[in-house]
Amino acid sequence: MTKTIQGIAASEGIAIAKAFRLENPELTVKKQSIADFEQELLRFDKAVAKSGVELEAIKEHARKELGEDKADIFAAHLLVLSDPELINPIKNKIQNEQVNAEFALNEVTLMFVSMFESMDNDYMKERAADIRDVTKRVLAHLLGVTIPNPSLIDEEVVIIAEDLTPSDTAQLNRQYVKGFTTNIGGRTSHSAIMARSMEIPAVVGAKTVLSDIENGKLVIVDGLDGQVIVDPNEDVIKTYEEKKKTYEAQKAEWAKLVNEKTVSADDYHVELAANIGTPEDVKSVLKNGSEGVGLYRTEFLYMGRDTLPTEEEQFEAYKTVLECMEGKPVVVRTLDIGGDKELPYLDLPKEMNPFLGFRAIRLCLKMQEMFRTQLRALLRASVYGNLKIMFPMIATLDELRQAKVILFEEKEKLQTKGTEVSDNIEIGMMVEIPSSAVNADLFAKEVDFFSIGTNDLIQYTLAADRMNERVSYLYQPYNPAILRLVKMVIDAAHKEGKWAGMCGEMAGDEIAIPILLGLGLDEFSMSATSILKARSQIRHLSKVEMKQHIETILSMSTAEEVVSFVKSHF
Ligand code: PEP
Ligand code: MG
Repeated sequence: MTKTIQGIAASEGIAIAKAFRLENPELTVKKQSIADFEQELLRFDKAVAKSGVELEAIKEHARKELGEDKADIFAAHLLVLSDPELINPIKNKIQNEQVNAEFALNEVTLMFVSMFESMDNDYMKERAADIRDVTKRVLAHLLGVTIPNPSLIDEEVVIIAEDLTPSDTAQLNRQYVKGFTTNIGGRTSHSAIMARSMEIPAVVGAKTVLSDIENGKLVIVDGLDGQVIVDPNEDVIKTYEEKKKTYEAQKAEWAKLVNEKTVSADDYHVELAANIGTPEDVKSVLKNGSEGVGLYRTEFLYMGRDTLPTEEEQFEAYKTVLECMEGKPVVVRTLDIGGDKELPYLDLPKEMNPFLGFRAIRLCLKMQEMFRTQLRALLRASVYGNLKIMFPMIATLDELRQAKVILFEEKEKLQTKGTEVSDNIEIGMMVEIPSSAVNADLFAKEVDFFSIGTNDLIQYTLAADRMNERVSYLYQPYNPAILRLVKMVIDAAHKEGKWAGMCGEMAGDEIAIPILLGLGLDEFSMSATSILKARSQIRHLSKVEMKQHIETILSMSTAEEVVSFVKSHF
């Protein structure tokens, strides 16, 4: 029977396809005595053999679809699987202690993993991660459960999951994954942001999708209204096919503005830029007529792999983006790891409050070799386009100053060596922590630009976790507190003759756009897929008229009042 589940619309569009559940199986191990160890060894050998066949298939698939370096990860896993130093102790344990294979495997794995992890050596730490991955696969075979493998999907599907990490999302194959829906998450969780840049319709925070949807069931993901329809009948399918067509037609209308400048009805220009996560995303940036890249989230270069990217790899990525953008501004944000963006291979201790913890610029100022490598790659790439460098999560002037000193030191070292570096790199910062918004007048003297990160600014100002749907009612972009902070930042920038942009999701929000235009925001950076819609909206708005309404809007007491005012006036 058809069932509708309400969630949060996270990425526009309609997807109709079969469900593919991406669910980690239960892998709990119990100790058991066994009577026939030979039989148990045979069972273990079979599980190892099956895992080998599976890994070979994944490796070949990765080679074709994702390239040599991703395939190498699985080649390394195959080596672990055939390593007698791991396999023999497991077999000895089964034989000598007469215990079940699952238990022996688990014990030996834990021993090796903790040994490698305690070594102060990155290579060994990576081996620990490999061993954990490979043995999990063997364990799944022993327990008779399956580990789902999204990289092997070869038909059109909708992914159903509890949650998707940003690196899970990055590995989704756009050809076959037509949409996704998750039990948890909000509009500004990074998997939602990535879905928008990948143009994959998505509904998040849908609470019961995993319990309500079986593998293979037909599912509609309505990323426009945030609904998931399970087992739709013919009539429902027809309705959604129509809705999809209407949406595509609307998109085609907006597409006519692809080569137009973004000007308001009274002829003021604002810049519409795009947020990207990988050089791959630039295709969509150009297709959607963006006037620049307002935020390149470089942390995605560091994710979905087992080691830090080298300076050369980073240089190539930054150079590609700068060259493809042909002189248009490209704001590259330095590594912003932390919060929901984890890097397991850095082996950082788990924290109680990761969004408030050791992350982003805090981590970079401590792990300076990693930071300096990134800065060198950026400085070297700067001659290939219009680069602007931006530091994330700046809370104090001292952090900004330290980051700038390190950047200038690396620039000087490169120049002394005779490496060419552009002399026109603007240096800016994200304003996403309330302290930096309140002190914007002080910061404005020491940067070339601000980019307001409302995704975090909202969660820190209202103390409402951006990933937690239970407090999503407090996550209020239009709360007067946020609008007042945004005004302070824009005014402070302008007073010093600097520009102010916004790269949080609020910049592409149709209720926020008229207000931001009136506040004098210079650059709006958003998911590439929102640009043409925003351009069309701004062309119908008068900036002067919006400015006249600002005082009224900022004196309102609630977000609801702001929303109803904007809706009734524009
Ligand atoms: C923000 O916080 O608004 C932002 C753009 O950065 P991120 O979403 O990557 O935290
Ligand atoms: Mg942020």
